[in-house]
Amino acid sequence: MRLEFVVRQHLLNRLRIRSGRERAQRQNAYRNRHEADRDDYQEEAVHNRHWESEAVVGRCRAAPSVLASAVMRGNTVLRESGPKDAGLKETGLKEAGLKEIAALPETLAGRSIVLVGLMGAGKTSIGRRLAARLGMPFRDADAEIELAAGCTVPELFDRYGEHEFRDGERRVIRRLLAGDPIVLATGGGAFMDPQTRATIREEGISIWLRCKLATLLRRVVGREHRPLLNAGDPAQILQRLIDLRHPFYAEADLIIDCADESPDVTTSHVLNALLGWQAPRRLSVALTSTNYDVVIGDGLLERAGALLAPLLPQKRVVVVTDASVARLHLPLLLDGLSATAIQSSQIVVPAGESSKNLETYARVVDGLLDAGVERGTTIIALGGGVVGDLAGFAAATTLRGLPFVQVPTTLLAQVDSSVGGKTGVNTPRGKNLVGAFHQPRMVLADTATLRTLPIRELRAGYAEIAKAGLIGDAAFFAWCERHGGRMIGGDRDLQAEAIRRACAFKAAVVGDDEREERPNDGRALLNLGHTFAHALEADVGYGGGLLHGEAVAVGLGLAFRLSTRLGLCPQADAERVVAHIAAVGLPAEIGMLNRRLSAATLIAHMRRDKKMRDGQLKFVLARGVGQAFTSSEVAQDAVTDLLRTEGCGP
Ligand code: NAD
Ligand code: ZN
Repeated sequence: MRLEFVVRQHLLNRLRIRSGRERAQRQNAYRNRHEADRDDYQEEAVHNRHWESEAVVGRCRAAPSVLASAVMRGNTVLRESGPKDAGLKETGLKEAGLKEIAALPETLAGRSIVLVGLMGAGKTSIGRRLAARLGMPFRDADAEIELAAGCTVPELFDRYGEHEFRDGERRVIRRLLAGDPIVLATGGGAFMDPQTRATIREEGISIWLRCKLATLLRRVVGREHRPLLNAGDPAQILQRLIDLRHPFYAEADLIIDCADESPDVTTSHVLNALLGWQAPRRLSVALTSTNYDVVIGDGLLERAGALLAPLLPQKRVVVVTDASVARLHLPLLLDGLSATAIQSSQIVVPAGESSKNLETYARVVDGLLDAGVERGTTIIALGGGVVGDLAGFAAATTLRGLPFVQVPTTLLAQVDSSVGGKTGVNTPRGKNLVGAFHQPRMVLADTATLRTLPIRELRAGYAEIAKAGLIGDAAFFAWCERHGGRMIGGDRDLQAEAIRRACAFKAAVVGDDEREERPNDGRALLNLGHTFAHALEADVGYGGGLLHGEAVAVGLGLAFRLSTRLGLCPQADAERVVAHIAAVGLPAEIGMLNRRLSAATLIAHMRRDKKMRDGQLKFVLARGVGQAFTSSEVAQDAVTDLLRTEGCGP
């Protein structure tokens, strides 16, 4: 279906080219001008108020009833009908409108398409064509407002003022989008209103028709009823509008660059973009204290500003990252943020686990204070679990808590550490011994960042994915056995699926026991393999000799073997776990680490771990794959025996 559509589009465009480019351009220029008139009412009205007739402000009076008139209650029909031909007859495309709807991605089903942009961008002309080609109704928000109010938008501005106008516009757009899906052209100022943006985000997909100044000027200058542009230098006036509004339009879901091509060609661009559009996947983490989304998708860094702007208390952030990630991914994130006018500064720490300490933490806090952070300044952690834990702890404690966003760039961080709000640093006495719970406002997992991740790091992250299956989702572990190798090999679809499933699992566990307070099971289950892993990491040191995920991989094997030793888990399950971990190239047994380790030293590290309760070692054990449970009744001797059997010295 989709291919059929694309081919038809292609034929249509070729037909048009053959039918005479010059004639088409002349007609287009006329159409652009004519149809851009509709787009301009509001812009002019706004500027009439602000720049031409300030005196009118004093005459404004409230008129709450005007925009809620009876006419407004149903979707009103446009006074002008859409283009009858729009070049569609040539290919019979119009009749095929319904087929095209069927070809739209599922993410669009049931959603309205909302066009935003400046005067002259062609929202109405493109909107009409788009609606015709999709077989959807078209609505023009300004026309609906005028119909309801019985006067023109400029008259509305003059009589009631902008505040009343925006209030009515907000209600009109909400009403229009509450009904069946439509194509909606909005007035140029509508998307500046935070509530209207929120309505559009919820109900529709927004498309910004982005034009350069020169294009806009060509389209709008010289028309007689342009008091706004005639009142000063039109280029300067339009530039001011661009500076003011583009950062808000940049929050749109899709951005289409428009130049001097015909409206039909622009419409084709919009259609193609809609066909290729994939909404990032969103998972909701629902906690008693707060709710937030984990957004997973390819290319989210570029969209960071658009995704974050609705959540930030202040359009100001400090990005904390490490030196390697800064080189690879910071510029893209900063560009993404600046697109929606979010100001940013950066703090860069050395890469690796050795940065997760109190000294680096103190330097980050100093950096934040030097940057003049305020209560509303958001801290963004861009990097792996180290940066996430470190920056999160700095955010939790600086000024008694700053808003925080996780932008994880390692597989481990995307599937595990960025979700759930545990933050902290290591001390020479052990892992994560100083820290705080501090939930992020959002997690942006951009799978594109994984393309630069060294294979060893990718594998290490995989351990936490397998862990999720082993704890409570046997079907997911079986999925891992089938697809794990290819996923680590770089298959993007499998990576996205693994991230989604692992995050969903973690979100469910954390949602059930946010602060790990349940006496049994609950969030502590996520520590499967970690009592061993933390002891191994503390023993080897945090200098990169053993990655956290590698330590977890060994720990998973040990936890299952311990469970078998205690008569709790079939040996076949333990061997299945070890076999899979080894098959993907991770260390699954202590012997694979090629180090001399002492059982007594490892136990001493375990006794310093947070997971001690009443002096007893606490373990996560398993009755089989996907059946983990917590236990404080493991005798130390059983652990020592296991470690000795696995090749540790006394
Ligand atoms: P990491 O943050 O050190 O990242 C690993 C290495 O990869 C670093 O050198 C980093 O610079 C580099 N890197 C990161 N992203 C990259 C990219 N896209 N391309 C190229 N290089 C990149 O380590 P990690 O494995 O992500 O995280 C491990 C840490 O996470 C441990 O400290 C662990 O305790 C912690 N953790 C925390 C939680 C939690 O709930 N808070 C859960 C699991 C793990
Ligand atoms: Zn871990």
